Amino acid sequence: MEKVVIIGTGCAGLTAALYTARANLTPLVFTGTLPGGLLTTTSIVENYPGFPDGIDGYELMTRMQKQAERFGARVKFATLEAADLSKQPFVLTVDGEPVETQTLIIASGASHRHLDLESESLLERKGVTYCATCDGALPMFRNQPLVVVGGGDSACEEATYLTRFGSVVFLVHRRDTLRASKIMADRTLSNPKVKPIWNSVVTEILDVKQDKVTGVRLKNLKNDAEQVLDCAGVFVAIGHVPNTQLFKGAIDMDENGYIIPKRGSETNVTGVFVAGDCSDHVYRQAVTAAGLGCAAAIDAERHLAKLNQ
Ligand SMILES: Cc1cc2nc3c(=O)[nH]c(=O)nc-3n(C[C@H](O)[C@H](O)[C@H](O)COP(=O)(O)OP(=O)(O)OC[C@H]3O[C@@H](n4cnc5c(N)ncnc54)[C@H](O)[C@@H]3O)c2cc1C
Repeated sequence: MEKVVIIGTGCAGLTAALYTARANLTPLVFTGTLPGGLLTTTSIVENYPGFPDGIDGYELMTRMQKQAERFGARVKFATLEAADLSKQPFVLTVDGEPVETQTLIIASGASHRHLDLESESLLERKGVTYCATCDGALPMFRNQPLVVVGGGDSACEEATYLTRFGSVVFLVHRRDTLRASKIMADRTLSNPKVKPIWNSVVTEILDVKQDKVTGVRLKNLKNDAEQVLDCAGVFVAIGHVPNTQLFKGAIDMDENGYIIPKRGSETNVTGVFVAGDCSDHVYRQAVTAAGLGCAAAIDAERHLAKLNQ
């Protein structure tokens, strides 16, 4: 039987692995389909402390994994398919095989929603991005027209943040009012650099042939009129989906599927802890996910110490 199983190898999971490994708990860590987590999908990470020149996302995550393995973490390329958390030990189904464990750390992250356009996936990292805090300051976006897609709090935050870098920020929203909280909407719309484009959707991101973002094709949902808007970046901010569906009914979560911790990283099920973006819809940063992974590991370790004393 395992003492600690960790679901996910993003910043949260691998930091939890490092801490539990250094506590001699030899954690078993499952990667899921995205070993290294979301940071492996980006190039340069400039805001992770300790790297004054920035670091490639893939390299950072490879180093995190090595660091955890050095102390005894066992990282396996496998996916959790089901979890019976109704009794101790917990019984997990991982790639069809049962795994028993005393504690479980859920660090399964959140996936961003896509526009589901072919041009979007072809131009990802070539001007299409899902995180203004992460990518907004990149040279390619400086003093250029930028597009933010969405109408909620995140879209407003992204648009306002991007006014520091872009020459103008077009906020493209499918309705004629923002969904965001009033204060956030007012702040965004009163910014002279934000230009809302109402009742519109992006139908294509240009220009796949040039292999970089040069504009977007928009369709007005009221009158079907089309227009092309020049821009150097498209920031898609239409929400995230936490990877928590497997735990629905067993673990307390909000209406959007984010796990709600009870105290610290503890969930409503004793022995199950949570860390990272699957419980955090506010900060969603590598360093915060790592911090939460550390907290979950310490909580799991203390729980095991009590159980086994
Ligand atoms: C393009 C991009 C650029 C970014 N750039 C930055 C940046 O510059 N700086 C910054 O601070 N943040 C950045 N971020 C945000 C950062 O990547 C996230 O905040 C961070 O990765 C969250 O870590 P996490 O461990 O919570 O989740 P994730 O990194 O999402 O990892 C989740 C892990 O869980 C695994 N998993 C999911 N379901 C299962 C399952 N059923 N079984 C097993 N494993 C499972 C996945 O395979 C993955 O390994 C960026 C995000 C994106 C998308």
